[in-house]
Amino acid sequence: MILQDCRVPAANRLGQEGDGLKIALGALDSGRIGIAAQAVGIAQSAMEKAGRYAKQRVQFGKAIAEFQAIQWMLADMATDIEAARLLTYRAAYLRSKGVRCSGEVAMAKLFASSMAMRHTVQAVQILGGYGYMREYEVERHLRDAKITEIYEGTSEVMRLVIAGQLLKDLG
Ligand SMILES: Cc1cc2nc3c(=O)[nH]c(=O)nc-3n(C[C@H](O)[C@H](O)[C@H](O)COP(=O)(O)OP(=O)(O)OC[C@H]3O[C@@H](n4cnc5c(N)ncnc54)[C@H](O)[C@@H]3O)c2cc1C
Repeated sequence: MILQDCRVPAANRLGQEGDGLKIALGALDSGRIGIAAQAVGIAQSAMEKAGRYAKQRVQFGKAIAEFQAIQWMLADMATDIEAARLLTYRAAYLRSKGVRCSGEVAMAKLFASSMAMRHTVQAVQILGGYGYMREYEVERHLRDAKITEIYEGTSEVMRLVIAGQLLKDLG
């Protein structure tokens, strides 16, 4: 978007003169919490679909949910989803209190989005050939998970924010 020769009356200005960057970065923090929450939701749905499928899909005379390899995937999904959810809640809590929390927000987005990417791939794996097909929805979850690593700031940019905060805090 280009705003050229655009004059805005002072009465319509957001905040004080010189506060623009601070306001823009604050808006990004709120948006990133939303993306972290989106990633948690995508992963949760993929896990539930994979778990239900594993309980009813029979191979080698058993439901595949009885194979330990499948159980380990589901256990890792459940644990990582919970960790991402708590990071996201923490970021949302800090933001709602008006505390400066760009580092905590970046951690939530980085962890939740890479977790969603990793586990939607696993969900596709649990569904086998069906996982790759559009009818079973987990392939959509995989595609949706990928964008959470990109928009509202890429994972590389999240790491820059986290490292910047860490190095600043170390003095
Ligand atoms: C579906 C979709 C919806 C979107 N919605 C919006 C929206 O509503 N509003 C909006 O403003 N934008 C939106 N975007 C844009 C999105 O935020 C950008 O695509 C994203 O921030 C990445 O910017 P870029 O595409 O210019 O990639 P680039 O900045 O060109 O990055 C390309 C690659 O280089 C890496 N990179 C760049 N700089 C560095 C660095 N300093 N150190 C290490 N690696 C680096 C990136 O991490 C990435 O891997 C949307 C994008 C998509 C795909």
